[in-house]
This record gives sequence, C-alpha cells and structure tokens, in this order.
Amino acid sequence: MITKSKMTAELENILPKKNILSAVEECYVYSQDGTNDIESDVIPDVVVFPETVEEVQSIMRFANAHKIPVVARGAGTNLVGACITSRGGIVINFTKMDNILEINKTNMTVRVQAGVVVGKLQEKVSEMGLFFPPDPSNLKVSTIGGAIAQSAGGPKTFKYGTTKDYVLGLKVVLADGTLMETGTNTIKNATGYHLEQLFIGSEGTLGIVVEAVLKLIPKPETTQVVMAYFNSVDEATNSVTSMIDKNIYPSTIDFMNKNTLQTVEKFYPCGLLTNKEAALIIEVDGFKISMETQIMRLETVLRLSGATDIIIANTSEEQEKIWTGRRASFGATAKLSPDVVTNDMIVPRENISKLVSGISEICDRHGLVVSIVGHIGDGNIHPQIALDLNNENEVKNYENVKKEFYDLTLRLGGTLSAEHGIGLEKKEYFARAVDSVALEYMKKMKQMFDPDNILNPDKIFDVEG
Ligand SMILES: Cc1cc2nc3c(=O)[nH]c(=O)nc-3n(C[C@H](O)[C@H](O)[C@H](O)COP(=O)(O)OP(=O)(O)OC[C@H]3O[C@@H](n4cnc5c(N)ncnc54)[C@H](O)[C@@H]3O)c2cc1C
Repeated sequence: MITKSKMTAELENILPKKNILSAVEECYVYSQDGTNDIESDVIPDVVVFPETVEEVQSIMRFANAHKIPVVARGAGTNLVGACITSRGGIVINFTKMDNILEINKTNMTVRVQAGVVVGKLQEKVSEMGLFFPPDPSNLKVSTIGGAIAQSAGGPKTFKYGTTKDYVLGLKVVLADGTLMETGTNTIKNATGYHLEQLFIGSEGTLGIVVEAVLKLIPKPETTQVVMAYFNSVDEATNSVTSMIDKNIYPSTIDFMNKNTLQTVEKFYPCGLLTNKEAALIIEVDGFKISMETQIMRLETVLRLSGATDIIIANTSEEQEKIWTGRRASFGATAKLSPDVVTNDMIVPRENISKLVSGISEICDRHGLVVSIVGHIGDGNIHPQIALDLNNENEVKNYENVKKEFYDLTLRLGGTLSAEHGIGLEKKEYFARAVDSVALEYMKKMKQMFDPDNILNPDKIFDVEG
C-alpha cells in the first residue's frame, strides 16, 4: 500500500498544491457527512479539488494503479453516511467544478458540471423562464452530482418527479480513469441501453459523474400555497385520495403531525395551530388565470375531507412564512434533545395513513419523541427523532425502532428509501428490500465497473474485496 506522503506527492503531479489537502485536521472534516448517527474514525489520506475532467481522470488512473479507495463528494449533506470514508484513501471534492456550461432554451436542456449547486441551477434557468423541479430541502448547498448519485427528490415530486426524471446524459469517469459519455442531449432517446440511469442512486460506487445534461421544463407562471389543518391524521391523509379523485394535482402535498406543529411553534413561533392533529401544506402552480379555480376546487375538497382551518397564502411573504414553519421542523426537533436523526421511507400512496400511524405507535412504544413530516403526496415520510446519541439505551431503542420502521414499510409494499439513499445507514437491511436476483445483478455490475472495489467501498451493499 502506498504511503500517505507518497500519495500526496504523486497527486501534486496531477493537481496544483492549493487544490490538495493532506493535514489530518483538514482531512478529518471530509471523513463525515450530514449523517448524525454514524461515526467513523477513519480519516481520508488526501482530499483533492479537481477543476477539470482530465484531472479527475488522472486521479482515478493513479488511484486505480495503487488500489486506493476514492469517495466523490459534493456538499457532504447526505443523511445516510454515503460520504463517510470508511477505508480512508482519496476524497474527490467537486466544489471547484461548479460551472453551468450551457443553458439551451430551444432544446430546454442545461449542461452542468457535477459540483453545481442545485439552488443556483434552479435560479439561473428560472431567469430564462425555465424550470428544474427536483428540490431537496437543502438545495441552497447540495450539488447536482450528489443529487444524481443519491437519486434526490424533494417536495415537488408529486407533480414533477425526482432527479432521475431529468437526467438525459452523463459524462462519467470510470474506476480506471476512462471517460464514458452516456445518454444524449435530446429529449427522447431509444438508442440502446440507458446506462446514464445506472449511475442514478449509485452513490458514487460505479463511477464519478463529472458532467450532466438535464431536461428542463417551462417555469409555471405562478404558484400559490395553501395550508390546511385537520383534527385527525386520517382525514389529512385521506384528503390526498380525494384530491386525486377530483383530478386535482398540486405540485406539492407536504405533511406535519401534531408534535411537529407544537415543536416548531415552541422554538420558531410562526402562528401554527398547535391543537390540531395534522396539517398539510399544498402548493399549486400553473397559469395565473387558472389559479382562482384551482384554489376554489382544492378548498372544497379539503373542507369535505374534514379540514377545519384553511389558510391561503396570497403574497410571497405569507407563502414563505408557511414554508419556514415546515423547514424549521428538523431544527426545532433538534432542540428537544442533544441530537436528532431522520429517516426516509416510502409506501404506495394508498398506504400512507398506515405508515404514519405505525411510526407514531412504534416510537411511543420505544419511548422516543418523534416529529413526523413528509412528502405525503408521494407516500414518503421523514420521522425526525429527538434523542441523545450518547445514551446507550436511547441508541438501542432507536436501532429497534429503525428495524420496525423498515419491517412496517416493506409490509405495506414500500421501500427503504425514497430520496436519501442507502449508504452505510441502511445497507444492513438492503437485501430485504430488493429482489435477490436483482441484488445478484447489482453485484455483478459493481464487479464489472469497479473490479477492485475502490469506488466508495462499503456503501449500499457489501462486495468482496
Ligand atoms: C437539512 C437537509 C435536508 C435535506 N432534504 C432533502 C430532500 O428534501 N430531498 C432529498 O432527496 N434529500 C434531502 N437531503 C439529503 C441530501 O441533501 C441529498 O442526498 C443531496 O442530494 C446530497 O447532495 P450533496 O451534494 O450534499 O452530496 P454528498 O452528500 O456530498 O454525496 C452524496 C453521495 O453522492 C456521491 N457523489 C457526490 N458527488 C458525486 C459525483 N460527482 N459523482 C459520483 N458520485 C457523487 C457521494 O459519494 C455520496 O455517495 C437533505 C439533507 C439535509 C442535511
């Protein structure tokens, strides 16, 4: 195995010194990510900040020659330990490859480097009347490379889908440094295998994405936000079915349970009704001329479904106030205990009510405080649990809770992750969630793309080596 100092010296032949970190205290920062409940004391040997595709290729050729583990990294905000450097090695940080290379209005496509921040991309295309809908809540910092590798979603999935629905083509540096272009920059493509889709959700285990061509859609002319309160969780969840029955398709249907309303209001008062069992935040968009009708029909369905209080946000300030309450839920829950952890399960929409009540029951039984939020229109729930990760008993309870969450989710026909990924966090349960033949072929693919298991080893599932 090559020594750290030799590794650093070799990398200095590929990149300028200013783009290499090797001091332990600097590299330590890159051994962790946004995940709270996984700790690793394995620190990467070197962190590099390439500025060109050729540099990434050279780094991979070097890593491949010496069998050095490589972890690609965007903003490091994933919540499943997908960037944790479990075997040390090299971290390739993409923050210096953050250029939007081309926005093509006629083709309605955008070509970006992997390190482009999702929020910046949204802003830039929006200036041209275009829209890139995938919107992870932390889009102001997370990168498109991370979104592709984690198959990220966000509140707007109900109407617009997730990152996977917008990737037309990719440039990927393979484990041996070869550059592969897959997909096209056309809106349709029936020319062979869609290899670009393979890299979506692959968490940097099959190749390093350096560039992406993404589909854009027309920006909706206007957006309106409605908040509805209910006296029962069932009424709130059933209202989603009623909306679909009545052909009402908002862009977002988000959920907060009573504990979330109370916790947010306690720490970030914003006028939430804390005596209600559930609230929905519903965003509708479209032409200005259609808004009044859309809102009227939505209000009728909500009232018939049992909504007791309906707030229609008419100004952008009012809209922002509603969303601030929802976005504050993680931070507010974090104030209840020294730590907070979150999860991400999804079930078919028809089973959402059973998932929400099951999560409450499981947490109550194990004595853990939970704020339940989620993109309920998608069947996707994020239980946010306040606990003390230094308290052995609570950690043990959380381990049991997680297992029961996944048992319940799978029983309800759902799966382990909707948008956060598997990483280290869920790999123990992965084999239960995917078909055994599919898993066998995933392992074969990993072996084919990365025969020496140097690309983000230990994530999603274990392979030999
Ligand atoms: C407060 C908060 C809110 C969040 N809200 C949401 C949400 O609403 N929806 C959602 O889907 N997620 C959400 N997340 C999770 C996270 O933001 C997403 O997973 C995000 O897409 C990660 O982007 P990143 O740039 O931080 O990637 P990183 O965490 O840096 O990396 C994630 C994975 O991608 C790989 N990777 C990164 N760049 C590349 C590349 N160029 N090539 C190959 N692999 C690469 C890494 O190796 C790792 O496996 C949230 C996280 C936080 C902390």
